[in-house]
Amino acid sequence: MAQHILAIDQGTTSTRAIVFDHAGSIVSVGQKEHKQIFPRAGWVEHDPAEITANTRYVIGQALAKADLNIGDLAAVGITNQRETAVVWDRRTGEPVYNAIVWQDTRTQSIVDDLGALGGGADRYKAKVGLPLATYFSGPKVRWILDNVEGARAKAENGDLLFGNTDTWTLWNLTGGPNGGVHVTDVTNASRTMLMDLDTLSWDADIAAEMGIPLSMLPEIRSSSENYGTGVGVLNGVPITGILGDQQAATFGQACFDVGTAKNTYGTGNFMLLNTGTEKVASHNGLLTTVCYKIGSQAPVYALEGSIAVTGSLVQWLRDNLGIIGSASEIEGLARSVEDNGGAYFVPAFSGLFAPYWRADARGALVGLTRFVSKGHLARAVLEATAFQTREVLDAMNADSGVALTELKVDGGMVVNELLMQFQADILDVPVVRPKVAETTALGAAYAAGLAVGYWSGEDELRANWAEDKRWSPELDASERERVYRNWKKAVTKSFDWVD
Ligand code: ADP
Repeated sequence: MAQHILAIDQGTTSTRAIVFDHAGSIVSVGQKEHKQIFPRAGWVEHDPAEITANTRYVIGQALAKADLNIGDLAAVGITNQRETAVVWDRRTGEPVYNAIVWQDTRTQSIVDDLGALGGGADRYKAKVGLPLATYFSGPKVRWILDNVEGARAKAENGDLLFGNTDTWTLWNLTGGPNGGVHVTDVTNASRTMLMDLDTLSWDADIAAEMGIPLSMLPEIRSSSENYGTGVGVLNGVPITGILGDQQAATFGQACFDVGTAKNTYGTGNFMLLNTGTEKVASHNGLLTTVCYKIGSQAPVYALEGSIAVTGSLVQWLRDNLGIIGSASEIEGLARSVEDNGGAYFVPAFSGLFAPYWRADARGALVGLTRFVSKGHLARAVLEATAFQTREVLDAMNADSGVALTELKVDGGMVVNELLMQFQADILDVPVVRPKVAETTALGAAYAAGLAVGYWSGEDELRANWAEDKRWSPELDASERERVYRNWKKAVTKSFDWVD
């Protein structure tokens, strides 16, 4: 068998292609950022054609860097930014509109109108595991059909296809208008608000209520099986794994046992707790979602705490305020002071996600005095990530009835050692970083490799996991609870900003 697995990570800020070997180690990486398009306040779009071009480019880049060709690939896995919706013409392959990104809040009135039919935010929760929110794909598709001229008629005629970026990527890599496979996996489908979590099929009633023709929706498959064979840059290579990015990271962190969890620190933060084949409903503002489904095995579910803004607050400090020149400078600036100087920053830029789900919230910077400097601001920015994570962990513990004893972490922010120490301090549990930090791509590679027998099963993947560094709690309890209390008070100041 060929010696390598390729993972494509179609992320929010960039697309990566990563070649892995059998030990789960990175052999080479190709990466390219794409444009973030902000047409209005609250709107976030990507150009789907740019994403496809970048995907092809980074595949070539990764192979070239490792001096490999496609014949060296046993299989390809795809992982992706979830919920970001693309609608395109099945005959021409042209998107009818830009991709509407998960952070985009333009669908608020659609969401409000659906809730007003009865049940409010919980209208579909028992079936789909999600509260009605602008975050998920279904309402974004509805918006496109309502607002792009001619789109609804074409959709009803069966001419349009929808997909999250996994589906868009797979369809293009398998031939596009010339025989492209229109498929998604259960984890991506579970983020649309259109899939029944028990039957793992589209719910015709919800789709009808949202005004989305079933003919647009991709076929739902497991996360690890042969979906189709690549053409062009991937000619002849089987594509055999799909997992939404957060589920992929959970898989890449080898969280296969009930009660294991990981937290990913990227643009936003996402904590997932494996709840096994049991679907656990949340009473504390978490989502119920599919964690993965390997071939014909039973689906495994997860509880998820999604936080919209964490690493992107660091970007905001860099791009909008210019206080730092690069994301990595924030650590030095934050270390130039001893504490937050009393400042708390609630980054409710797109409302607040877990555990609040408040669309009316907006960013709040509170506790300011004449003393507060940019060093304190840098601290407040980093601490916001840690405090939001504490709120999600508290909700996880309450929903699952068991207290988590350590937290596996990954993502772009976990290089920040000050943040990791503060995180352990605020959670009062150890924080553990693995050697391979690219767990998202690794999880997609694992799903793809399992399907073709490149890896034999979960035990082999568990053996690949290795600890890099561990941070233990050092803060005393009264100080921990004092700052957390202040954080909670700050959160209340972010409410009610939208009339
Ligand atoms: P995504 O996969 O969501 O695109 P990544 O996992 O690549 O994100 O993480 C990128 C995020 O990490 C950015 O939002 C960036 O601001 C943040 N980041 C990068 N380096 C640091 C650092 N040293 N300290 C704090 N945040 C950082």
